[in-house]
Amino acid sequence: MKKGIAGILLQKEFTHEDITVLLRSDEEDAKLLYAQAAIIKEKYVGNTVYLRGLIEYSNVCGKNCLYCGSRRENRNIKRYTLSEDEALEAVISAWRLGFGSVTIQGGEIESDNHADKIESLIRVIREKTNNEVGVTLSLGEQERDVYRRWYNAGAHRYLLRLEATGRELYNKIHPLDKENHYEKRHACLRAIKETGFQTGTGLLIGLPHQTLSDLADDLIFLRDFDIDMCVMSPFIEHTDTSEGTGGISGFFLKERLFLTLKMTAILRIIMKDINIISSSAMQAVDTEGREKAILAGANIIMPNITPLKYREGYKLYNHKQESKEIDPANVSGLNLTLLPGTEIGLKKWGDATHYKRRKNLVL
Ligand code: SF4
Repeated sequence: MKKGIAGILLQKEFTHEDITVLLRSDEEDAKLLYAQAAIIKEKYVGNTVYLRGLIEYSNVCGKNCLYCGSRRENRNIKRYTLSEDEALEAVISAWRLGFGSVTIQGGEIESDNHADKIESLIRVIREKTNNEVGVTLSLGEQERDVYRRWYNAGAHRYLLRLEATGRELYNKIHPLDKENHYEKRHACLRAIKETGFQTGTGLLIGLPHQTLSDLADDLIFLRDFDIDMCVMSPFIEHTDTSEGTGGISGFFLKERLFLTLKMTAILRIIMKDINIISSSAMQAVDTEGREKAILAGANIIMPNITPLKYREGYKLYNHKQESKEIDPANVSGLNLTLLPGTEIGLKKWGDATHYKRRKNLVL
């Protein structure tokens, strides 16, 4: 006899088949998923949403990922890199508004000069904010020594997106050139964890060629890797990419959003105390997308604090939300009327309980 959604949700362990059934749930059954994820979120991480002020540090990138607007061969964007002063000014402004944490995100550059600049930026952020602002990095594949230097400088979380954890799909969305190696990316993720960072990754949902079985594999990978945080994003084509112009995803945007919400809820159910980021790409598909992801189990958002003049240049996908200043009266930008009982964690780092437990810092 086939198991129903309600029966599967009573289980403590979930097989690949169970997860695939959950992913297949319709709108009505998905409400059960979201409700279960909400109960687990409240019990294990609480109903506070923590902020990571996002600094899009640079759109210069040595890679050529087939889905990304910052890819090396895209000649239609103006490349930029923030100066240390510009990045610091953005951090200080966010800190004064109550942000407890920032994320420095940028294209992948492997050079001594880049490593030095980031190390210096981390140190100056920590010093000028009296060590009050936590620093997350999302700067791609680097040598182990560079991860160590950035960690020692004071960054404590690192997000390295895999987008797709399976080799076959990964190789379909990345060019087979000397910069792209499936093994190297996974080795980097392990090196990040071994360095001591709270370790995060990200998935793209609704990619061309992707199946529900792939997505179930992704969730099992996250569980087995024992990840501390994850960002789930619906795949959105970028016009200046081969995946964008091809328009070959088998999923409509709305369907990708629905799948992303189900992935978020299932991840919360199988990894109860990790941090799950509600991505800005959710908002690009649905104006209430970020709030829906929070109701489905996410507990982190990353409001953009990049200086306005640079934002036009940082478009990894189409339909990215228009540049806006942070509203000082509502720095999260969330519609809190949709999120009863949710608080915004101002002046807090909002570290993953999972990480503390993994490091035996809490019982
Ligand atoms: S996804 Fe990241 S590594 Fe790939 S091209 Fe875009 S910025 Fe570069």
